[in-house]
Amino acid sequence: MIIDVLSLFPQMFTPVIEESILGRAASNDIVDIRLCDIRDYAVNKHRRTDDTPYGGGAGMIMCADPVFRALESMDGKTGRVIYMSPKGRLLNTDLIKELSGEDHLTLLCGRYEGIDERIIEYWHMDEITIGDYILTGGELPAMVLIDAVVRMLPGVLGSSDSHREESIYSDLLEYPQYTKPREYRGMKVPETLLSGDHSRISTWRYEKSLILTKTRRPDLFKAYLNKDKSLNKREKEILNRVTEYTIP
Ligand code: SAH
Repeated sequence: MIIDVLSLFPQMFTPVIEESILGRAASNDIVDIRLCDIRDYAVNKHRRTDDTPYGGGAGMIMCADPVFRALESMDGKTGRVIYMSPKGRLLNTDLIKELSGEDHLTLLCGRYEGIDERIIEYWHMDEITIGDYILTGGELPAMVLIDAVVRMLPGVLGSSDSHREESIYSDLLEYPQYTKPREYRGMKVPETLLSGDHSRISTWRYEKSLILTKTRRPDLFKAYLNKDKSLNKREKEILNRVTEYTIP
């Protein structure tokens, strides 16, 4: 997958995309993240990239011209063009899965009070938000998107099952996890997890996931009850029990 990033602060990305799992995905040629400094395409005297809003109001707006020139330099090879924007569609697991199926994404990061609307219209940009709050720029949202999309790509996580059981991906919140040692400051790992009995372990985890989801995310739990699930007899019993159980 190719991900082009257009930003006024491209250097913000370097430490994030070179580290750990993202860095490894790049060195294994699973993803190629290319950074473009919008300022390089500002051709006016002071290499200005923003100006005051027509109609008045606070702050500055990013000008169309440098962004158009940056996108034009890609010779029509932009893939799906996305503007990170608080007005956009919410980035959630469905959207992340959808994006991970693309070959090429181009992400535009806004700054200041946003960008000239003509950029969005002309380039038919999808607008994507990471949540109902306003940040100072689109760089952190773009990094969130990149991280979430890249870890979905085949070969990025060690085990292909890693994301199946994760919170939200499986429509439920993940069960509690433990690692060595068995006892830490008097706190013990639940006995079931040490039993080596796979069926008992999966039952325990399923029940914990259900209780956690019902308690913390009743919206997800309700949606889960309405989904088609291939559950075995034991799982069905647990689901019935947890559904009836009232949260103290
Ligand atoms: N005045 C704008 C906000 C500008 S914030 C408005 O009210 O909609 C500056 C830039 O940060 C935006 O152009 C956008 O690229 C980015 N940004 C801020 N919050 C964001 C969010 N929740 N999700 C995605 N991008 C965001």
